Amino acid sequence: MLASPGWYRKTAGMRVFAVVGSGPSGLYATEAIAKALPDAEVHVFDRLPTPYGLVRSGVAPDHQGTKNVWRVYQRTLQRANVHYFGNIEIGRDLSLDDLREHYDAVFLAVGAPVDKALGVPGEDKVGVIGSSQMSGWYNGHPDFSSSSPDLGQGHIAVIGNGNVAVDVVRVLARAADEMLKTDLPAYAREQIARAPITDIHMIGRRGPGEASFTPVELRELGELSRCVAVVDKTQLPESIVASDPNQQKLKDKILDILRGYSNNDAASKPLRLHIHFYAAPREIAGNVRVQELVLDRTRVENGQAVFTGETFVIPATLVIKAIGFHIRPLAGVPGTVRDICYPNEHGKIADGLFAVGWAKRGPSGVIATNRQDSIEVVERMLKELESYPSKGDGARVRIETLLQARNVKRTSFADWEKIETAENQRALAEGYGAARVKVTEWSELLALATV
Ligand code: NAP
Repeated sequence: MLASPGWYRKTAGMRVFAVVGSGPSGLYATEAIAKALPDAEVHVFDRLPTPYGLVRSGVAPDHQGTKNVWRVYQRTLQRANVHYFGNIEIGRDLSLDDLREHYDAVFLAVGAPVDKALGVPGEDKVGVIGSSQMSGWYNGHPDFSSSSPDLGQGHIAVIGNGNVAVDVVRVLARAADEMLKTDLPAYAREQIARAPITDIHMIGRRGPGEASFTPVELRELGELSRCVAVVDKTQLPESIVASDPNQQKLKDKILDILRGYSNNDAASKPLRLHIHFYAAPREIAGNVRVQELVLDRTRVENGQAVFTGETFVIPATLVIKAIGFHIRPLAGVPGTVRDICYPNEHGKIADGLFAVGWAKRGPSGVIATNRQDSIEVVERMLKELESYPSKGDGARVRIETLLQARNVKRTSFADWEKIETAENQRALAEGYGAARVKVTEWSELLALATV
């Protein structure tokens, strides 16, 4: 636990910090700063009027247990020395230079919001989308709520063998009544229920030993009421050898679950999930719209997928890429590291500028990974803080004045609470036990926030 540094009270002026992004890594950093320096202020900026980042807009709606961590983040944002600046995009409404001018230190917790490209011919065809559009749509994110992806004419391909791919598959494969108590927007529930989906293909370019999904998530794919998971027995090895005992346990479980799926009867449910390994996308074929996915058969050598020379085809009128994410470059940060994170040393980008979460280490790890990670970066900042000039006195007024001069409407935590109240009231009115009925349009979010 972070202790208030002894020298802190001796420094002149109030300390004030900016955290950009109100997802898990940003709010764990906020909590760490607010606890260590109770007399300091932390201003949390987010481009949405709604906080909690991927917990609200990325975690799958049927994982309400995971989403419940918002209660921890709510307590952070309710701290007297923490202030929420919603509806503010850094790089548009305020520059990073503005923040560095007005804050003692700035933490970038902006995640990696851009879908990685496959880099194969046909990727621009209608019906090829990224997982951020898909999960944004089924999570009611206002940038994607109207995107209404055409769910195709039967076969859907989901590329990737990570937990994001598993999430996307599961949400599409679940029956409408399995989603009633979640916060899946009604438009998505109805569209998924109406879609003529018969087969979903989850495609990994390497083998079961290299897949990055975790056993709990893989097992859930075998518990869906309208969908049966199947896998070709010949793709399963006798055993998987892992690097350490913990990994070994996980890999043994994965193999065990897959063996179970290989015995399933593909005709036992109306919808089938085919789990494919050793299949690397070569081309997305069709006219304007995708019709099929051409794949290279691979084998794994020294951990790498190697083409065997054999190709084959899977029909698909919707292809969802769940192959990882890139960070968005930000003026004032010296580039990126291979597009996946900002250049940093244990979180430090420059004096007074830090990265946490995916912006620090790339798109990996679960929500809990961010807690210790953010605390360590804050500890590093605290060690250096004495050498940073204090800019705190009046920072809040100066930033609010700057926003007003630029005609930017900031929303507060109290504004978010108005949105939240409306969402909870709508859930009660619907009467089927929905976790919440999300407000999903920008105009309505802002109208509720500014009542
Ligand atoms: P991930 O675990 O890195 O999986 C990405 C997948 O895409 C891998 O199977 C990868 O294959 C594949 N891939 C990458 N480039 C490809 C290409 N060009 N062609 C074909 N396949 C390609 O990432 P993620 O699924 O996006 O998840 C991000 C992080 O969030 C992970 O740490 C994940 O565990 C976490 N998460 C957790 C949960 C949960 O706990 N329920 C839910 C969602 C996300 P290779 O391995 O061969 O590169």
